[in-house]
Amino acid sequence: MGSVQIVTTILAAGITAVAVWLAVRAVMKMTAVIRLGQPAPERFADKGARTRKMLVETAGHTRMLKWGVVGAAHWFVMVGFIVLSLLVLEAYFEVVTPTGGLPIIGHWTVFGLATEIITVLGLVGILVLMAIRLRNRPNRPGGRSRFTGSTMWQGYFVEWVVLLVLVFGLVIRGFKVATDHFEYPVWATPVSHAVGAILPDWSDGASVAALIKIVISMTWLIVISLNVTMGVAWHRFLAFPNIFFKRDPEKPAGSGLGPLRPMTSQGKPLDFEEADPEKDQFGVSQVEQFTWKGLLDFSTCTECGRCQSQCPAWNTGKPLSPKLLVLSLRDHAYAKAPYLLAGGGKDLTGEEKATQAQLAHLDVLSLAEGDKPLIGTAEEGGVIDPDVLWSCTTCGACVEQCPVDIEHVDHIVDMRRYQVLIESSFPSEAGVMLRNLENKGNPWGAPQNTREDWTKGLDFEVPRVGEVDDFEYLFWVGCAGAFEDRAKKTTRAVATLLNEAGVSFAILGEGETCSGDPARRIGNEFVFQMLAQQNVETLNEAFEGREKTKRKIVATCPHCFNTLGNEYGQLGGEFEVVHHTQLLAHLVSTGKLTPVQPVDGGVTYHDPCYLGRHNRVFAAPREVLGDSIQGELTEMPRNSERSFCCGAGGARMWMEEKIGKRINVDRVEEAMATGAKTVAVGCPFCSTMLNDGVNGKGAGEQVEVIDVASVLLRSVKPEQPRGESTPVAG
Ligand code: SF4
Ligand code: SF4
Repeated sequence: MGSVQIVTTILAAGITAVAVWLAVRAVMKMTAVIRLGQPAPERFADKGARTRKMLVETAGHTRMLKWGVVGAAHWFVMVGFIVLSLLVLEAYFEVVTPTGGLPIIGHWTVFGLATEIITVLGLVGILVLMAIRLRNRPNRPGGRSRFTGSTMWQGYFVEWVVLLVLVFGLVIRGFKVATDHFEYPVWATPVSHAVGAILPDWSDGASVAALIKIVISMTWLIVISLNVTMGVAWHRFLAFPNIFFKRDPEKPAGSGLGPLRPMTSQGKPLDFEEADPEKDQFGVSQVEQFTWKGLLDFSTCTECGRCQSQCPAWNTGKPLSPKLLVLSLRDHAYAKAPYLLAGGGKDLTGEEKATQAQLAHLDVLSLAEGDKPLIGTAEEGGVIDPDVLWSCTTCGACVEQCPVDIEHVDHIVDMRRYQVLIESSFPSEAGVMLRNLENKGNPWGAPQNTREDWTKGLDFEVPRVGEVDDFEYLFWVGCAGAFEDRAKKTTRAVATLLNEAGVSFAILGEGETCSGDPARRIGNEFVFQMLAQQNVETLNEAFEGREKTKRKIVATCPHCFNTLGNEYGQLGGEFEVVHHTQLLAHLVSTGKLTPVQPVDGGVTYHDPCYLGRHNRVFAAPREVLGDSIQGELTEMPRNSERSFCCGAGGARMWMEEKIGKRINVDRVEEAMATGAKTVAVGCPFCSTMLNDGVNGKGAGEQVEVIDVASVLLRSVKPEQPRGESTPVAG
């Protein structure tokens, strides 16, 4: 070993020892913080499915590749990071001797070829990512950026480290070529040979370049170890467990989540019959009341801003950004952790758990963080502003886009649950809706005995469950479908089409109450459970004696469709629920309904979040519309998985929209820009919001917003009076 190699070896060993020590400390700290969360035993079920999903999502980059170039570039950088870690390891042999290499594989041409290819593609990938980050930097002139609010130096730092590590890998090889100590042939390593051709014949060059590569790599490790909230770097490790522990590994990537999780305390679903707010956790009021998976979510965020770029609240000037929400929770959790780990924290009655002595050694910042309210305005020192919390429509666009499977909607609803159930703190205008649900069983407060009024004037009988036993489908009308004027026209259109197709169906009539969706999304789990239990009982009775595949329900409202199909199982109600567009598509494709007259003037389709993103029903409504117009739909730029919310979900339908641009107006402008005369919808709330948007723009005469069923009815029965399928303006 020459004198240069003695120095390079000592320096490499020294910096590596420091970096590894700091990294071990950082991992222990992160583990301790994540373990502060509440139990989530269900995350350990289905290990096989979880492993498969983790491998498919990471190796296939299923979410990232939807972003085209950036996804491909990131894939090469990820593969480069994993495979080229071997070359960092090899550098430790090269600081000892300039001709050194990895044992066994280090002299294998296949290894030389593979690492050469990955190095070159990794270089291309990181340059593309750097260009994208620069092009989208928040301070660029004009335009909004998905990186607004991200810690930009961290992103630049990580990208420069990757670039330099790759470059020095080639420089090491170049010195070996220049000194004639490179074992791989030119055909397998042409770039290394080209670099070697311009480097001097310096015998110690490979050792010095290897030291520089190690110093860069270990500097990265030291920096990230000193910054445990640096998700842009830590996600390289945390993304794997975060995807592994996602809540439903069998569902397609994204999926906007669909059902909400039941309320839990100590990892067990809360039973409202016995629950006691002084002993059981009601939602989340302290950051440590999230589950450990929640805290892992916050730690894993890469600050990429994909969620932010798709969020309807953020895009219309509301204070909510799902990214900034996650970052606020992450920073708060890590800043509060020393206080919690010292034994601090409030019990469920709000009393401090720690003794003075336990907290005596803590610095004032940790203690102050422990005192911050989780929900509160800036003046109150709150972590999350109430306007942030209540701006969410639970549309799921954030969850759909997040490449590391962060479950924003669950966290938002958990915080809402505490605010509603314990603090009674929520936008006051929603109080009327909640009172109506409790007292009248529907959000409008309409008399229950008017639930069947929509049937009046139909030229056929609509049977009730109990009057007929052999119905195939139970037609779940929903509150909007029973009480709201526009939605009633959809209900009549669906009933008419089912009757026309000879489908046997029956309704519950006055036996139906609200599915509970708005109560659950606003956070009032108590009212949801009350309504849902009643409905489950009614439905179980209606289907008594039938196996699950024969307990078929058709619903026109995607919120009912989601709640009945995905959430009633949590309360013992197992049903086969379809959306009316799915059933209609089936009836058309099997020839039971025949569109005869093409609907003209151009049709565009707005995907309801709870039908599309949350439940992946994208094709059926498009098939029905395609058959009705006998031509191509005019798609809006934001469609299918990337559809833009109408603004009504998450119980926002019953809250005033006081901040920023109205979401429905933004969506209507997009729809109108297509030039289509008809905007088809598949949800009564979307219908209300988009109709309001169109009328607000004074375009009610030029553009019509109607349900897919009404479009089909016009094509199947053109002689039908227009009033049957045309909404009342205003
Ligand atoms: S669910 Fe929708 S509105 Fe809520 S944070 Fe996510 S993207 Fe924004
Ligand atoms: S998409 Fe996911 S990883 Fe990216 S900023 Fe949003 S929460 Fe973080």
